[in-house]
Formats: sequence, C-alpha cells, structure tokens
Amino acid sequence: MSDRNSVPCPNLTKRHSDPEQRAGSESRYFASAATTDGTNTEILDCKQSRMTSVGVDAEECEEQDATPFDKLREECGVMAVYGHPDAARMTYWGLYALQHRGQESAGIAAADGTDVTDIKGMGLVSEIFTDDVLAKLPGTMAIGHTRYSTTGDSALLNAQPISVESTKGLIAIAHNGNLVNLGNSKQRLERDGAVFQTTSDTEIIVQLIAHSRCNTLVDCIADSLSQVDGAFSIVMMTRNRIFAARDPHGFRPLSMGRIAGSGGAPDTFVFASETCAFDLLHAKYERDVEPGELVMVSEDGVTSRRFARETVPPASCIFEHVYFARPDSRIFGRWVQQSREEMGRQLARESGVAADLVVPVPDSGVTAALGYAAESGIPFNLGLIRNHYVGRTFIQPEQRTRDFGVRMKLNPVRSLLEGKRVILIDDSIIRGTTSRKIVRMVRAAGATEVHMRISCPPTISPCFYGVDTPSKKDLIAANYSVAEICKYIEADSLAYLSLVGLTHSCTKGEPASGMSPASYCTACYTGNYPTAWVDVEDILPATVGA
Ligand code: SF4
Repeated sequence: MSDRNSVPCPNLTKRHSDPEQRAGSESRYFASAATTDGTNTEILDCKQSRMTSVGVDAEECEEQDATPFDKLREECGVMAVYGHPDAARMTYWGLYALQHRGQESAGIAAADGTDVTDIKGMGLVSEIFTDDVLAKLPGTMAIGHTRYSTTGDSALLNAQPISVESTKGLIAIAHNGNLVNLGNSKQRLERDGAVFQTTSDTEIIVQLIAHSRCNTLVDCIADSLSQVDGAFSIVMMTRNRIFAARDPHGFRPLSMGRIAGSGGAPDTFVFASETCAFDLLHAKYERDVEPGELVMVSEDGVTSRRFARETVPPASCIFEHVYFARPDSRIFGRWVQQSREEMGRQLARESGVAADLVVPVPDSGVTAALGYAAESGIPFNLGLIRNHYVGRTFIQPEQRTRDFGVRMKLNPVRSLLEGKRVILIDDSIIRGTTSRKIVRMVRAAGATEVHMRISCPPTISPCFYGVDTPSKKDLIAANYSVAEICKYIEADSLAYLSLVGLTHSCTKGEPASGMSPASYCTACYTGNYPTAWVDVEDILPATVGA
C-alpha cells in the first residue's frame, strides 16, 4: 500500500476562504395539481400529512430534505409490466424496490385493453398506493414511475406517468433521464400547434409522437426518439401495448425480465430501471434494453428495432455504479456490488494509510468500505449508525444545536471509535458541509485520527443527464484543491479514487458485459460531456478566492 495520493492536513484550523459561504441555497417550489386530458387521472398529496420544521436556517434546511447527506440526487425509476392479471400491484412492488431512485412523487398507469387509468401523488410509493388505491387501477398492463424532479418544477404537475390522448391514440409515458436539446424541439412543436400541459421534458417525446407524420405508432415512436438528444430510459403504454427504449448513449439503465406463466398462462414481461425490482416479483432477468433500441410487447410477443439513425459512442453513467444503483442490482451488464467493492479495494491500493479501523459512511459507503478493509487488512466496523426512520423533515429543537441535522441521521459508536485511527469511506463530497460534520462527529467520539477516503474522483462538473447536481460554483471540488478540501472538512488526510481506478473498478473481470472504460460517462469528474449541448452558464467555475 502507498499513501502517495492522499493529502495530509497539516492542521485543523478552518480555512480562510470558506466554501460553505459560497454555496447558494437551493430553491424548491411546488405548484398545484393538474391533470391531463383524455385519461382517468387521480392525484394524491401524501406530503400534506408530514411534520414540518420550524426555525431553521439554510444549511439546516439542506439537511432536512430527502437527500440524506449532501449527496447528488437520484433521478428517477421506471417500471413496466405486461400480461399480468394484477399488473398495477406488480408495478407497485417494483416501484417499492426502486424507491431509492426518487422520493418526491410516484405514479402508476394501468390499461385494461379499453381504458388507461393513472394515479399519481406526492410522497413515497407506500404512502400513495394503498390497497384501495391499487384497486382503482385494473388491467393486465401497467407502467410506473418514482421521481425526484430534475427538469421542470418539482410539482405534482410533473409527476409521471404522463398520459395523453393524441392523434395517435392514448399514450402513457414514464421517463428516467434528461433531454438536452429541448429548446429547438419545443419551439418547433409549438409552431406546429402543440400545447404543453407540463414543464417536464418528458412531454416533448409525447408531443413529437403526436406530431410525427409516420404511418404506424411504432414508427412514430421511433421517429420521435430519433429527434431528441440526452438521457432517456423510458417505458410507454398504449391501451394494448408496452414499449421500452433507451437513448443511443445508454446513459441510464433499463432491464427486461420475465415471469414464467403457470398452468399454461402466457409469460409476463417486466421492465425496470434496476434488476432489484425483479426480485420481489420473482422475475428472471433476461437482458438489458440496448442503447438506441425500442422494444415492443404486444399480444404478438416481443419485438425490437433500433431507432437511432447512427451509432453513437456509449456513455453509461458511471455514478450509477458509485452511488445511485443498489448493490443488489445488475446494471450495464454488471453487478453494482462487484464494482463498488472493487472501488474500495482500488482506493486502498492507491491511497492506503496506517489506521486501526475502516468505517463506512452508511449506507452507500458500506460496500466500498468492505473492499477497502479486505484489501488493506484493516478491520471493518460500523462505527456510524444511521437512523433509517428519519423522514424527510423533522421538528428542530427550539435551541438549535450544532450539526443537529446530521446527528439526527447518524450517530457514532463511541466504544468502537475511541482511541482509534479511523479511515472513513464515503462515495462523494459535493459541497463538503456534511463531510465536515461527520469528521467532527467521529473525532468527538474519541477517534485520534480521521482519514477520509472517497470512492470516486472529485466531482468538478454538473450533470445534464438526469442527476440533480449543484452548479459548478457550488461543487467544492470544482473550486478548491484536495488539500483545501481536506482542511475544510477537518480531516487528517483526504484521498479520492483516481479516474483510471474508477473505470477499472467498473469493468474489471467482466469482459462479457462488453463494457470498457470508454463505455462510461465520467463528465462530472472530467467536464468532458458526451453530448454537444450543455448549459455554459452552469459549467463556468466560480472565481476562486472572490
Ligand atoms: S455527468 Fe456524472 S452523474 Fe451525469 S451521467 Fe455522466 S457520470 Fe453520470
């Protein structure tokens, strides 16, 4: 082991130029509910019953929202079921397993061959869909969506699936990802008479289908998908068919599974953002939907075609392996657990340090920490315990105490940490504020040294492909050196996994998956975006030291 890549902190004094003061507060806004035409749509608002907080400042507010520890936010999860007598309930279970991909709203649309009914609400899947609600969603086909808003405002207005009665018939759609060429498409559609009902980029796809001059619906869908750029893993449903498609770069995962029919019944086909959704349904993973592929399931079986006009380089999101996806999922042809453990091992090889204990920042740091401990030979233990029952908001004490928000969610195990040199493993540092609180917490519990290790490279650029990232001026690594960040978070040393180490970890040992280091998007670590369009304002760095 060597520690050549770690940065020791010479002292623990607070930096002169504080990035926390530079971080702008994030605004979130809600609009009133709206329905779409031509379908049976019901809207539920489960957030109204939640506790609200009082007397908090901007930093505390940041701690209270759905993202537990200064993390990038998951984008969305999609699910589809074809050919099951209780398709809505199957979709519900799938969404339940995909809840980590978005906790702001969820929806299910079900089709019984004649009608499409959709129900959407703000809140968690389990809060929105009770037995009574699921009973209102009859049919053998269903699609579902769980969402954290990435474009459009974060309102019920933009909850999905979006259902639209169009000249091509009734279409319901659920989308994971972000489109990046909205301006031209939207203006052209509006000139052609399109009236947008939401501010979500997903509606662009539906409008393009409705305005396509192709003869068949499947041609119209392929035509519309070939006109948009960016990230999309989508599931669509008409009254009698299910469609699933992935953008030509393959940014977001989307897999297909099958449940064998019993007693001569036909098989059920399922699609999900992650394969962990299949396990609850006893569905067997069949394959990934390929980048640029449009899959259709109908009474004639499963058919597939390519919609991309040309071959584009693959750019699957490597951060899915680092943080978003569950370790029990297989995405981009590879188990997340395998990648994440290898990240920890590689991190230990690149930036080992003498210590007594490897401690993960739970939950997402656990698998990498296991890999780090195995490679380094340093014992692993759960020195930080996460409270899984903290909701999105909680009532603050009248006299606010230091770092209260983080301490509500994480608590140190003093008996493990006292007198120990601790290596903390986490998967990212975004603004740095939470990392500093965790380092302080571990030190206050008696650790003699706290070394922070991050299982990916520094995040220096925002994402435009379905991940809600702060703008560049708010990303601590975009504006400060590793040594400065180390000093800011008050660690004894700080090291990140190298880019080569990360791509190696996500490809090692599985040539059969077809993934190479070049198959991944790494733009948030490099600033090299796989698509031409980016918002230039957002990628301009702050003036350091200003
Ligand atoms: S920019 Fe980062 S988070 Fe976004 S798709 Fe690329 S690797 Fe994933």
